This record gives sequence, structure tokens and C-alpha cells, in this order.
Amino acid sequence: MAKKRIKKRTVRLMRPADAEPGVFAIAEGRKLSFYYFRELASDIGGRGFRVLRLGTTAVYSVRLASVADTTCECMGFLRIGRCKHVLALQALIKEGLLNARMTN
Ligand SMILES: [Zn+2]
Repeated sequence: MAKKRIKKRTVRLMRPADAEPGVFAIAEGRKLSFYYFRELASDIGGRGFRVLRLGTTAVYSVRLASVADTTCECMGFLRIGRCKHVLALQALIKEGLLNARMTN
């Protein structure tokens, strides 16, 4: 029987969003990537985040809203309509780790 090769991906919050910036780590197989993130005010609904991968200059703006309105600037999202940045932030929110911010 052929085994499906699906890499298990997990996300872990390393430093809370309040830390400005927060840090989360995405583990894919044995690879571990760290990201700084900061929540941005979103004037158009949903929740906005800026995500920066440590050790790179790659910065992405992520917007989490309804399925149709969720976006990320990365190539993965542009190509297939989903990406690890969106999935990681959604997972952290689902776990109750990124509570909605008080309005400034
Ligand atoms: Zn992305």
C-alpha cells in the first residue's frame, strides 16, 4: 500500500502578540522556521497581520476574514490560494492564543 507523503506541519506560539512583535514557529518535518508577527489595524474588516520570517527580509501582510476575503501576499497563496502563514495564524486563533485586540 502506498503511503501518502503528507508532511506534518505544526505551529507553536513562542512569544505572545502582546510582546510586539510576537513570535511563532512552524515545524514542517524536521524543518523549523520562526516568524515575527504583529497585528495591524484592519479598516476593511477581518484581522490583519504582518509576518516576517526570521533570517530573511520576506515580509507578508496577511488578512484573515471569510474564506473569500482571506489573503496573504506570499507566492504560495498567490498560486494555490492558501499558505502556511494563513494556516498558522488561523491555528493560533483557533487555539485561543491570539485574542482580538482592544481597539486603540
Ligand atoms: Zn503566505
